[in-house]
Amino acid sequence: MAAADVGDDQFGEDPSINRLEERLAALLGKEAAMWVPTGTMANQVILRTLTRPGDDVIVAGGAHVALSETGAGSANAGVGFTQLPAPAGFFTADEFRTAVKPIGHIVLPPTTLVSVENTHNASGGRIVPLGVMAEVAETAAAMGVSSYMDGARLWNAAVATGYDPATLAAPFDMVWVAFSKGLGAPGGAIVAGPADTVGEARRYRRMQGGAMRQVGIFAAAADYALSHHLDDLALDHANARQIAEILADSGRIDLDPSIVETNIVYFDLVEGAPSARAVVDGAADSGVLALASGPRTIRVVTHRDVTSEQCRQAAATLVEVIDQ
Ligand SMILES: *Cc1c(COP(=O)(O)O)cnc(C)c1O
Repeated sequence: MAAADVGDDQFGEDPSINRLEERLAALLGKEAAMWVPTGTMANQVILRTLTRPGDDVIVAGGAHVALSETGAGSANAGVGFTQLPAPAGFFTADEFRTAVKPIGHIVLPPTTLVSVENTHNASGGRIVPLGVMAEVAETAAAMGVSSYMDGARLWNAAVATGYDPATLAAPFDMVWVAFSKGLGAPGGAIVAGPADTVGEARRYRRMQGGAMRQVGIFAAAADYALSHHLDDLALDHANARQIAEILADSGRIDLDPSIVETNIVYFDLVEGAPSARAVVDGAADSGVLALASGPRTIRVVTHRDVTSEQCRQAAATLVEVIDQ
């Protein structure tokens, strides 16, 4: 990062960013790519580019773009969201077709965009099957609805399935990927799609304050992470599965380890067990950090800074706190 060539990316003059954009356009199989500082901005810029105020956007239940961006989609793009139930991380093309509100309807808000989050965070990092994505995107195109993939965790899906990122992104008009999740870079995301659409998106990036200078330092970190950290995601996945198997042995935890496909484990505390808050606080006292994502639901995420042995210990600590 210290040695990165930098320049003014607002003028397209940061050589490190330009190289990263070219690398990612090729890697994702799209014509063009644009760097943005955060995944949230990637979602927001795509919403602005592919919708108009008043439009309806179809997403999986609990999608980050609908639920975890403090209302930004409504504030910035003026869109509403239809969240389709997605207990296993996805909705089908039939469910999508039924939910689409036709353009030109006398009362309904027109559905102009569908977003597929892969992997899907809220269902536990579940992988959306390639066939499902292809059918949803094809159905959307046939109905005049644009499509994009929220690929904050696309690298996890690629490593877990063995499909390359371009194959997974191919069904969609646009896609974005993050460098600061499993890959471990300090920041940055890339939005990719057709050249003219990415050109329009540049205006919305600037509108949201995301056109920056000297961001080549982030490009350098992203470039390094892609070249050196990608394969390590398989370790995160194995560690998450190991944690899930240890947790599932506790009679006070409701969890099916076979649904842990990537690096996220959600589990429920059965009646009689302490609350999620109490468990998270108790575990924190022993140096294990977890998230209470509901009154009786806890999320743990594995990452490249923790070893298999530490994950084993963390799971044992959680069980100890829950069973005591
Ligand atoms: C983290 C995440 C985002 C937001 O990315 P930030 O860089 O934190 O703004 C969006 N979508 C999904 C699925 C995520 O996991």
